[in-house]
Amino acid sequence: MRRKIGDIDMTALSDGPFPATLDTLIEFDRAEAQRLLGKPRGTPFFLPVNSYLLKLGSKWALVDTGCGPTVGPELGQLPSRLREAGVPPEAIDIILLTHIHPDHAMGLVDATGAAIFPNAELIVHEVEANFWLGREPASATTERIRRNIGKARHATAPYRERMRTVYDGEALPGVSAMLLPGHTPGHTGWVIHSGRDSVLIWGDVVHIPAIQVARPEAAFEYDVDPQAARETRQRTFDMVSADRLCVAGAHLDFPGIGTIVRTGASYRFEPGA
Ligand SMILES: [Zn+2]
Repeated sequence: MRRKIGDIDMTALSDGPFPATLDTLIEFDRAEAQRLLGKPRGTPFFLPVNSYLLKLGSKWALVDTGCGPTVGPELGQLPSRLREAGVPPEAIDIILLTHIHPDHAMGLVDATGAAIFPNAELIVHEVEANFWLGREPASATTERIRRNIGKARHATAPYRERMRTVYDGEALPGVSAMLLPGHTPGHTGWVIHSGRDSVLIWGDVVHIPAIQVARPEAAFEYDVDPQAARETRQRTFDMVSADRLCVAGAHLDFPGIGTIVRTGASYRFEPGA
């Protein structure tokens, strides 16, 4: 699916279906989660893994790179989707990561650890780069973080000479970083803006839309700081619903583009540009 943002073209691309479970929710009533999900207990469900391709003037930029070959044959579809869109991985000039978790960054490299995007500059928020790349795995406070530091280093290794870290604000003409911390410390929304139009590519502000849009307090086991993630989700919903800012989410149902509408004390997602 394509969307124009002023002079910028945005295309949603799917990396494949990620197997999910309600066991990943923390401090949230299981029966209520099941009810909101709208599926009988035990029914498998999947999270989409969306990336966004941007045409910025003469350059091609990609927000997030999917799982690569690490999760199984159903995932790691992004390179094929890019070729089908007429923009093979070699044509990508810039990669922007929302954060350095495996389902967003492992698509940077193939099974041998070589760069999938040989010509791309990698842009990451300074806070995110410091958390995953700026220290030893042994300094991690949990086993999951330790493992993910290793994966983050592996995925970014061939890009370190062409990696740029940024703070909040304009990273490229038409692309600005907005720190949305919690899921990871440097989790970043990318605001794409041109003319009067803008879209917030918000990464993982939401993982399970059926539950977390209606109940933003539902946190996720993979959140590095669940309480900060809750607060960021609430604050982001308030902002985008008040401003009617269009959002694009990595785990919102493909193509993952739409608006958040406030309904009393709750919210709903309306797909569509
Ligand atoms: Zn994710």
